[in-house]
Amino acid sequence: MSKSVTILGATGSIGTSALDLIERDPGGFTVSAVTAAGNVAALAAIARRTKARLAVIADDRLLPELTERLAGSDCSAAAGDQALSEAASGEADLVIAAIVGCAGLKPAMAAVEAGRTVALANKEALVTAGVLMTEAASRASATILPIDSEHNAIFQCISGARLEDISRIILTASGGPFRTASAAAIRSATPRQAVAHPNWSMGAKISVDSATMMNKGLELIEAHYLFGLPSERIDIVVHPQSVVHSLVEFIDGSVLAQLGAPDMRIPIAFALAWPKRMATPAERLDLAALARLDFEAPDSERFPALRLARSALEAGGAAPTVLNAANEVAVERFLAGAIGFPDIARIVEDSLGRDNSPAPQSIDDVIAIDQATRQRAAGLIEESCS
Ligand code: NAD
Ligand code: MG
Repeated sequence: MSKSVTILGATGSIGTSALDLIERDPGGFTVSAVTAAGNVAALAAIARRTKARLAVIADDRLLPELTERLAGSDCSAAAGDQALSEAASGEADLVIAAIVGCAGLKPAMAAVEAGRTVALANKEALVTAGVLMTEAASRASATILPIDSEHNAIFQCISGARLEDISRIILTASGGPFRTASAAAIRSATPRQAVAHPNWSMGAKISVDSATMMNKGLELIEAHYLFGLPSERIDIVVHPQSVVHSLVEFIDGSVLAQLGAPDMRIPIAFALAWPKRMATPAERLDLAALARLDFEAPDSERFPALRLARSALEAGGAAPTVLNAANEVAVERFLAGAIGFPDIARIVEDSLGRDNSPAPQSIDDVIAIDQATRQRAAGLIEESCS
Protein backbone atom coordinates (compact mmCIF):
# COMPACT_ATOMS: atom_id res chain seq x y z
CA MET A 1 0.00 0.00 0.00
CA SER A 2 1.39 3.40 -0.91
CA LYS A 3 1.61 6.22 1.62
CA SER A 4 0.00 9.59 0.87
CA VAL A 5 2.19 12.56 1.74
CA THR A 6 1.45 16.28 2.05
CA ILE A 7 4.42 18.62 1.76
CA LEU A 8 4.17 22.06 3.36
CA GLY A 9 7.02 24.12 1.90
CA ALA A 10 7.44 21.85 -1.14
CA THR A 11 9.64 24.30 -3.05
CA GLY A 12 12.28 24.68 -0.32
CA SER A 13 15.47 22.79 0.43
CA ILE A 14 13.76 20.17 2.65
CA GLY A 15 10.70 20.01 0.36
CA THR A 16 12.92 19.36 -2.67
CA SER A 17 14.85 16.60 -0.88
CA ALA A 18 11.59 14.96 0.23
CA LEU A 19 10.27 15.06 -3.34
CA ASP A 20 13.51 13.56 -4.61
CA LEU A 21 12.98 10.52 -2.36
CA ILE A 22 9.26 10.25 -3.09
CA GLU A 23 9.80 10.38 -6.84
CA ARG A 24 12.43 7.63 -6.67
CA ASP A 25 9.79 5.33 -5.19
CA PRO A 26 6.61 5.85 -7.23
CA GLY A 27 5.01 2.66 -5.88
CA GLY A 28 5.71 3.66 -2.30
CA PHE A 29 4.17 7.12 -2.15
CA THR A 30 1.48 9.37 -3.56
CA VAL A 31 1.48 13.13 -3.09
CA SER A 32 -1.62 14.61 -1.56
CA ALA A 33 -1.16 18.40 -1.16
CA VAL A 34 1.82 20.70 -1.82
CA THR A 35 2.32 24.31 -0.70
CA ALA A 36 4.72 27.23 -1.23
CA ALA A 37 5.08 30.89 -0.28
CA GLY A 38 5.22 32.67 -3.64
CA ASN A 39 7.06 30.60 -6.24
CA VAL A 40 3.97 29.78 -8.25
CA ALA A 41 5.78 28.36 -11.29
CA ALA A 42 7.77 25.88 -9.19
CA LEU A 43 4.71 24.91 -7.15
CA ALA A 44 2.58 24.26 -10.25
CA ALA A 45 5.37 22.21 -11.82
CA ILE A 46 5.66 20.07 -8.67
CA ALA A 47 1.90 19.61 -8.46
CA ARG A 48 1.68 18.49 -12.09
CA ARG A 49 4.69 16.20 -11.87
CA THR A 50 3.54 14.47 -8.68
CA LYS A 51 -0.19 14.45 -9.57
CA ALA A 52 -1.01 16.16 -6.28
CA ARG A 53 -4.73 16.72 -5.59
CA LEU A 54 -4.23 20.21 -4.09
CA ALA A 55 -1.68 23.01 -4.48
CA VAL A 56 -1.75 26.01 -2.13
CA ILE A 57 0.16 29.25 -2.59
CA ALA A 58 0.45 31.38 0.56
CA ASP A 59 0.34 34.69 -1.34
CA ASP A 60 -3.32 34.94 -2.38
CA ARG A 61 -2.61 37.49 -5.13
CA LEU A 62 -1.06 34.58 -7.02
CA LEU A 63 -4.19 32.40 -7.04
CA PRO A 64 -5.25 33.35 -10.61
CA GLU A 65 -1.79 32.45 -11.93
CA LEU A 66 -1.72 29.14 -10.01
CA THR A 67 -5.21 28.26 -11.29
CA GLU A 68 -4.13 29.02 -14.83
CA ARG A 69 -0.96 26.96 -14.53
CA LEU A 70 -2.95 23.98 -13.22
CA ALA A 71 -5.68 24.18 -15.87
CA GLY A 72 -6.42 20.78 -17.38
CA SER A 73 -4.88 18.85 -14.46
CA ASP A 74 -6.74 17.12 -11.62
CA CYS A 75 -5.09 19.40 -9.09
CA SER A 76 -7.15 22.09 -7.34
CA ALA A 77 -5.60 25.47 -6.64
CA ALA A 78 -6.07 27.45 -3.43
CA ALA A 79 -4.36 30.37 -1.66
CA GLY A 80 -3.96 32.09 1.68
CA ASP A 81 -3.48 31.13 5.33
CA GLN A 82 -6.78 29.32 5.76
CA ALA A 83 -6.09 27.16 2.69
CA LEU A 84 -2.60 26.33 4.02
CA SER A 85 -4.10 25.05 7.25
CA GLU A 86 -6.74 23.08 5.34
CA ALA A 87 -4.03 21.47 3.21
CA ALA A 88 -2.12 20.61 6.40
CA SER A 89 -5.09 18.97 8.12
CA GLY A 90 -6.46 17.22 5.02
CA GLU A 91 -6.33 13.46 4.52
CA ALA A 92 -2.72 12.19 4.31
CA ASP A 93 -0.71 9.43 5.95
CA LEU A 94 2.17 11.84 6.56
CA VAL A 95 2.49 15.63 6.61
CA ILE A 96 5.97 17.05 6.07
CA ALA A 97 6.13 20.43 7.83
CA ALA A 98 8.95 22.18 5.95
CA ILE A 99 7.89 25.83 5.91
CA VAL A 100 10.57 28.09 7.37
CA GLY A 101 9.86 30.21 10.44
CA CYS A 102 6.81 31.05 12.52
CA ALA A 103 4.87 31.28 9.22
CA GLY A 104 4.64 27.48 9.46
CA LEU A 105 3.12 27.44 12.94
CA LYS A 106 -0.59 27.49 12.09
CA PRO A 107 -0.35 24.85 9.32
CA ALA A 108 1.83 22.60 11.54
CA MET A 109 -0.66 22.99 14.40
CA ALA A 110 -3.55 22.20 12.05
CA ALA A 111 -1.84 18.93 11.08
CA VAL A 112 -1.14 18.08 14.74
CA GLU A 113 -4.70 18.91 15.82
CA ALA A 114 -6.04 16.69 13.04
CA GLY A 115 -4.05 13.82 14.60
CA ARG A 116 -1.77 13.43 11.60
CA THR A 117 1.70 11.92 11.63
CA VAL A 118 3.83 15.03 11.22
CA ALA A 119 7.42 14.93 9.97
CA LEU A 120 8.68 18.17 11.47
CA ALA A 121 11.49 20.17 9.86
CA ASN A 122 9.98 23.54 10.84
CA LYS A 123 11.77 23.83 14.21
CA GLU A 124 10.65 27.45 14.68
CA ALA A 125 7.04 26.25 15.08
CA LEU A 126 8.01 24.02 17.98
CA VAL A 127 10.32 26.62 19.53
CA THR A 128 7.70 29.36 19.46
CA ALA A 129 4.77 27.21 20.66
CA GLY A 130 6.37 24.12 22.21
CA VAL A 131 4.05 23.65 25.17
CA LEU A 132 0.89 24.16 23.12
CA MET A 133 2.05 21.98 20.23
CA THR A 134 3.14 19.04 22.37
CA GLU A 135 -0.09 19.24 24.41
CA ALA A 136 -2.13 19.31 21.19
CA ALA A 137 -0.19 16.31 19.86
CA SER A 138 -0.96 14.24 22.91
CA ARG A 139 -4.64 15.32 22.91
CA ALA A 140 -5.07 14.41 19.23
CA SER A 141 -2.74 11.35 19.37
CA ALA A 142 -0.63 12.92 16.64
CA THR A 143 2.89 11.58 16.16
CA ILE A 144 5.72 14.09 15.63
CA LEU A 145 8.71 12.60 13.78
CA PRO A 146 11.69 14.96 13.83
CA ILE A 147 13.41 15.60 10.49
CA ASP A 148 16.04 17.93 11.95
CA SER A 149 19.08 15.64 11.70
CA GLU A 150 20.11 15.93 15.38
CA HIS A 151 16.62 15.23 16.70
CA ASN A 152 16.13 12.47 14.19
CA ALA A 153 19.35 10.91 15.49
CA ILE A 154 18.14 11.15 19.09
CA PHE A 155 14.73 9.75 18.11
CA GLN A 156 16.51 6.75 16.59
CA CYS A 157 18.79 6.28 19.63
CA ILE A 158 16.06 6.44 22.29
CA SER A 159 13.57 4.26 20.47
CA GLY A 160 12.14 1.91 23.10
CA ALA A 161 14.00 3.56 26.03
CA ARG A 162 12.35 4.78 29.23
CA LEU A 163 12.77 8.54 29.90
CA GLU A 164 14.18 7.79 33.38
CA ASP A 165 16.96 5.68 31.84
CA ILE A 166 18.30 8.63 29.80
CA SER A 167 20.85 10.74 31.63
CA ARG A 168 21.46 13.32 28.91
CA ILE A 169 21.23 14.20 25.26
CA ILE A 170 24.27 15.52 23.43
CA LEU A 171 23.45 17.63 20.37
CA THR A 172 26.25 17.93 17.86
CA ALA A 173 26.87 21.24 16.07
CA SER A 174 29.03 21.70 12.99
CA GLY A 175 30.15 25.08 14.33
CA GLY A 176 29.10 26.70 11.05
CA PRO A 177 31.28 28.71 8.66
CA PHE A 178 32.85 30.80 11.47
CA ARG A 179 33.90 27.98 13.79
CA THR A 180 37.57 28.89 13.58
CA ALA A 181 37.13 32.61 12.79
CA SER A 182 38.42 35.29 15.15
CA ALA A 183 35.97 37.48 17.06
CA ALA A 184 37.05 40.39 14.81
CA ALA A 185 36.37 38.46 11.60
CA ILE A 186 32.95 37.38 12.93
CA ARG A 187 32.06 41.01 13.70
CA SER A 188 32.53 41.97 10.06
CA ALA A 189 30.96 38.82 8.50
CA THR A 190 28.92 39.41 5.35
CA PRO A 191 25.68 37.63 4.34
CA ARG A 192 27.57 35.82 1.59
CA GLN A 193 30.13 34.45 4.09
CA ALA A 194 27.39 33.55 6.55
CA VAL A 195 25.34 31.42 4.13
CA ALA A 196 28.37 29.43 2.92
CA HIS A 197 27.94 26.41 5.19
CA PRO A 198 30.85 23.95 5.15
CA ASN A 199 28.80 20.70 5.28
CA TRP A 200 25.14 21.30 4.45
CA SER A 201 23.31 23.05 1.61
CA MET A 202 20.20 24.66 3.13
CA GLY A 203 17.77 27.60 2.92
CA ALA A 204 19.16 31.09 3.66
CA LYS A 205 17.55 31.54 7.11
CA ILE A 206 18.85 28.31 8.64
CA SER A 207 22.25 28.94 7.05
CA VAL A 208 22.55 32.27 8.90
CA ASP A 209 21.27 30.57 12.07
CA SER A 210 24.10 28.04 11.70
CA ALA A 211 26.62 30.86 11.36
CA THR A 212 25.43 32.59 14.57
CA MET A 213 24.86 29.15 16.16
CA MET A 214 21.30 30.28 16.95
CA ASN A 215 20.37 27.16 15.00
CA LYS A 216 21.84 25.05 17.81
CA GLY A 217 20.08 27.28 20.33
CA LEU A 218 16.74 26.69 18.58
CA GLU A 219 17.58 22.98 18.46
CA LEU A 220 18.23 22.95 22.20
CA ILE A 221 14.69 24.25 22.76
CA GLU A 222 13.35 21.89 20.08
CA ALA A 223 14.99 18.92 21.87
CA HIS A 224 13.47 19.96 25.18
CA TYR A 225 9.95 19.91 23.75
CA LEU A 226 10.42 16.77 21.68
CA PHE A 227 12.07 14.61 24.31
CA GLY A 228 10.92 16.13 27.62
CA LEU A 229 14.37 16.66 29.16
CA PRO A 230 15.29 19.83 31.10
CA SER A 231 17.96 22.26 29.87
CA GLU A 232 20.66 20.87 32.20
CA ARG A 233 20.33 17.43 30.61
CA ILE A 234 20.84 18.68 27.04
CA ASP A 235 24.45 19.38 26.12
CA ILE A 236 25.98 20.75 22.94
CA VAL A 237 29.29 19.64 21.46
CA VAL A 238 30.91 21.01 18.31
CA HIS A 239 31.71 18.31 15.77
CA PRO A 240 32.97 19.87 12.52
CA GLN A 241 32.55 16.81 10.25
CA SER A 242 28.74 16.50 10.83
CA VAL A 243 28.96 12.71 10.75
CA VAL A 244 27.81 11.97 14.30
CA HIS A 245 24.34 13.55 14.19
CA SER A 246 23.77 13.46 17.97
CA LEU A 247 24.19 11.16 20.98
CA VAL A 248 22.22 9.89 23.96
CA GLU A 249 23.84 8.93 27.26
CA PHE A 250 22.01 6.42 29.48
CA ILE A 251 22.24 6.07 33.28
CA ASP A 252 24.56 3.05 32.97
CA GLY A 253 27.13 5.15 31.07
CA SER A 254 26.28 3.70 27.64
CA VAL A 255 26.26 6.27 24.86
CA LEU A 256 24.38 5.64 21.62
CA ALA A 257 24.95 7.79 18.56
CA GLN A 258 23.53 7.88 15.04
CA LEU A 259 26.03 8.44 12.24
CA GLY A 260 25.69 9.00 8.53
CA ALA A 261 26.73 11.19 5.64
CA PRO A 262 25.62 14.83 6.03
CA ASP A 263 22.66 14.40 3.66
CA MET A 264 19.19 15.49 4.81
CA ARG A 265 17.67 12.74 2.68
CA ILE A 266 18.67 10.25 5.41
CA PRO A 267 16.52 11.76 8.21
CA ILE A 268 13.77 12.64 5.70
CA ALA A 269 13.73 9.01 4.48
CA PHE A 270 13.52 7.84 8.08
CA ALA A 271 10.37 9.92 8.57
CA LEU A 272 8.90 8.96 5.19
CA ALA A 273 9.29 5.22 5.76
CA TRP A 274 8.70 5.15 9.54
CA PRO A 275 8.27 2.69 11.20
CA LYS A 276 10.03 0.87 8.36
CA ARG A 277 13.18 1.96 6.50
CA MET A 278 13.69 2.81 2.84
CA ALA A 279 16.72 2.92 0.57
CA THR A 280 18.31 6.30 -0.23
CA PRO A 281 21.01 7.35 -2.70
CA ALA A 282 22.94 9.04 0.14
CA GLU A 283 26.66 8.44 0.25
CA ARG A 284 27.78 5.62 2.59
CA LEU A 285 30.21 6.32 5.42
CA ASP A 286 33.78 5.23 4.82
CA LEU A 287 35.23 5.47 8.32
CA ALA A 288 38.75 4.55 7.28
CA ALA A 289 38.71 7.33 4.68
CA LEU A 290 37.31 9.76 7.24
CA ALA A 291 40.10 8.62 9.58
CA ARG A 292 39.10 10.92 12.44
CA LEU A 293 36.14 12.62 14.05
CA ASP A 294 36.75 15.79 16.07
CA PHE A 295 34.83 17.23 19.00
CA GLU A 296 35.26 20.50 20.89
CA ALA A 297 33.35 22.59 23.43
CA PRO A 298 31.14 25.36 21.99
CA ASP A 299 32.29 28.95 22.54
CA SER A 300 29.47 31.17 23.77
CA GLU A 301 31.74 34.22 23.80
CA ARG A 302 32.04 34.29 20.00
CA PHE A 303 28.56 32.77 19.60
CA PRO A 304 26.33 34.48 22.23
CA ALA A 305 23.17 33.06 20.60
CA LEU A 306 23.85 29.78 22.41
CA ARG A 307 23.68 31.48 25.79
CA LEU A 308 20.58 33.49 24.80
CA ALA A 309 18.68 30.40 23.67
CA ARG A 310 19.55 28.49 26.81
CA SER A 311 18.41 31.35 29.02
CA ALA A 312 15.15 31.62 27.01
CA LEU A 313 14.52 27.91 27.51
CA GLU A 314 15.20 28.18 31.24
CA ALA A 315 13.03 31.30 31.59
CA GLY A 316 10.17 29.56 29.75
CA GLY A 317 6.86 31.42 29.33
CA ALA A 318 6.99 33.83 26.40
CA ALA A 319 10.81 33.86 26.16
CA PRO A 320 11.23 31.18 23.44
CA THR A 321 8.57 32.95 21.30
CA VAL A 322 10.38 36.29 21.74
CA LEU A 323 13.78 34.72 21.00
CA ASN A 324 12.48 33.15 17.80
CA ALA A 325 10.60 36.22 16.52
CA ALA A 326 13.47 38.64 17.20
CA ASN A 327 15.88 36.25 15.53
CA GLU A 328 13.68 35.92 12.43
CA VAL A 329 13.51 39.71 12.02
CA ALA A 330 17.24 40.18 12.67
CA VAL A 331 18.26 37.44 10.22
CA GLU A 332 16.03 38.91 7.54
CA ARG A 333 17.52 42.39 8.06
CA PHE A 334 21.05 40.97 8.09
CA LEU A 335 20.42 39.14 4.80
CA ALA A 336 19.06 42.41 3.36
CA GLY A 337 22.30 44.17 4.31
CA ALA A 338 20.61 46.48 6.84
CA ILE A 339 22.48 45.32 9.97
CA GLY A 340 25.79 43.68 10.84
CA PHE A 341 26.33 40.08 11.93
CA PRO A 342 26.81 40.81 15.69
CA ASP A 343 23.58 42.89 15.65
CA ILE A 344 21.59 39.65 15.26
CA ALA A 345 22.41 38.44 18.78
CA ARG A 346 22.23 41.96 20.18
CA ILE A 347 18.68 42.46 18.86
CA VAL A 348 17.61 39.09 20.24
CA GLU A 349 19.11 39.94 23.63
CA ASP A 350 17.51 43.42 23.75
CA SER A 351 14.15 41.96 22.69
CA LEU A 352 14.30 39.36 25.46
CA GLY A 353 15.28 42.06 27.97
CA ARG A 354 12.36 44.32 27.04
CA ASP A 355 9.62 41.72 26.97
CA ASN A 356 7.29 41.10 29.87
CA SER A 357 4.54 39.12 28.13
CA PRO A 358 2.85 36.40 30.15
CA ALA A 359 3.19 32.79 28.98
CA PRO A 360 1.03 32.21 25.88
CA GLN A 361 -2.12 30.18 26.57
CA SER A 362 -3.21 29.77 22.96
CA ILE A 363 -1.80 29.92 19.44
CA ASP A 364 -3.39 33.37 19.09
CA ASP A 365 -1.36 34.48 22.14
CA VAL A 366 1.80 33.10 20.49
CA ILE A 367 1.04 35.01 17.28
CA ALA A 368 0.37 38.21 19.27
CA ILE A 369 3.71 37.93 21.14
CA ASP A 370 5.46 37.08 17.86
CA GLN A 371 3.98 40.17 16.16
CA ALA A 372 4.71 42.51 19.07
CA THR A 373 8.31 41.25 19.20
CA ARG A 374 8.74 41.75 15.46
CA GLN A 375 7.58 45.37 15.80
CA ARG A 376 9.84 45.99 18.77
CA ALA A 377 12.83 44.38 17.02
CA ALA A 378 12.19 46.46 13.89
CA GLY A 379 12.16 49.56 16.14
CA LEU A 380 15.45 48.53 17.75
CA ILE A 381 16.98 48.11 14.30
CA GLU A 382 15.76 51.54 13.20
CA GLU A 383 17.13 53.16 16.36
CA SER A 384 20.54 51.63 15.78
CA CYS A 385 20.58 52.61 12.08
CA SER A 386 19.59 56.23 12.64
P1 NAD B 1 13.75 27.09 2.43
O1 NAD B 1 13.83 28.56 2.58
O2 NAD B 1 14.62 26.41 1.44
O3 NAD B 1 12.23 26.66 2.10
C1 NAD B 1 11.16 27.14 2.86
C2 NAD B 1 9.83 26.69 2.27
O4 NAD B 1 8.78 27.35 3.03
C3 NAD B 1 9.62 27.09 0.81
O5 NAD B 1 8.84 26.10 0.18
C4 NAD B 1 8.81 28.38 0.91
O6 NAD B 1 8.01 28.62 -0.22
C5 NAD B 1 7.97 28.12 2.14
N1 NAD B 1 7.62 29.37 2.85
C6 NAD B 1 8.48 30.35 3.22
N2 NAD B 1 7.80 31.37 3.82
C7 NAD B 1 6.51 31.00 3.81
C8 NAD B 1 5.32 31.64 4.26
N3 NAD B 1 5.33 32.87 4.82
N4 NAD B 1 4.14 30.99 4.12
C9 NAD B 1 4.09 29.77 3.54
N5 NAD B 1 5.18 29.12 3.08
C10 NAD B 1 6.38 29.73 3.22
O7 NAD B 1 14.00 26.49 3.89
P2 NAD B 1 14.58 25.05 4.29
O8 NAD B 1 16.05 25.13 4.40
O9 NAD B 1 13.94 23.99 3.45
O10 NAD B 1 14.04 24.92 5.78
C11 NAD B 1 12.69 24.61 6.08
C12 NAD B 1 12.60 24.29 7.57
O11 NAD B 1 13.36 23.11 7.82
C13 NAD B 1 13.19 25.38 8.46
O12 NAD B 1 12.44 25.50 9.64
C14 NAD B 1 14.57 24.87 8.79
O13 NAD B 1 15.05 25.31 10.04
C15 NAD B 1 14.32 23.36 8.83
N6 NAD B 1 15.52 22.55 8.55
C16 NAD B 1 16.14 22.65 7.34
C17 NAD B 1 17.28 21.88 7.06
C18 NAD B 1 17.94 21.96 5.72
O14 NAD B 1 18.88 21.19 5.48
N7 NAD B 1 17.53 22.79 4.81
C19 NAD B 1 17.78 21.03 8.05
C20 NAD B 1 17.12 20.95 9.27
C21 NAD B 1 15.98 21.71 9.51
MG1 MG C 1 19.78 20.44 12.64
